[in-house]
Amino acid sequence: MLTDAFPRKANRAQFLDSDRLKTLDLPKDGRLPSITKRIEDAMKTDKRADVRRACAEFLDDASKFYEVPACGIRVLAARPLRVRERGTIELFGDYSPETMVIRVWMRTAVRKEVTSFGTFLSTLCHEFCHHLDFQKFGFPDSWHTRGFYERAAVLYHHARATPLKKLFWVPMAGERWRIDWQRTNRGA
Ligand SMILES: [Zn+2]
Repeated sequence: MLTDAFPRKANRAQFLDSDRLKTLDLPKDGRLPSITKRIEDAMKTDKRADVRRACAEFLDDASKFYEVPACGIRVLAARPLRVRERGTIELFGDYSPETMVIRVWMRTAVRKEVTSFGTFLSTLCHEFCHHLDFQKFGFPDSWHTRGFYERAAVLYHHARATPLKKLFWVPMAGERWRIDWQRTNRGA
């Protein structure tokens, strides 16, 4: 995962706010983890309508908790040719701020392999965090800052009921950052 470049002109302050905002309030109950289980079960049976229904429930619940308008969800069989997200290499979903619709797909573009459940859930949380950026935090854009990835990870680990890992970052050219997965997985 690589962060977006620092904006050259407008919105630099908001970009830094997004970069610094590293956590997210979480529900105290186990509703999201239990809906997550249903997404996982639906993915095993490969029934797109069931996956969609469980994802919609997840997003409705999360939107209520964060007090943002509900967002729409489309679960596609395979990755469409045109996607809105830019800059990332692995791409399993997108979000449109204009329509507030998240799209996720169940198969990868190239080999049409089923997206792993972890990747699928991580994508759902990632796209929902774009929704939060616009609707909860009021950012004029939703950049992939370090804070953005941290917030998405907080939501993902809550949903999956797995322990949160500290993310380790490596500086890259052009004031960008990437996650050092070796250190992150080692935890030191
Ligand atoms: Zn994104």
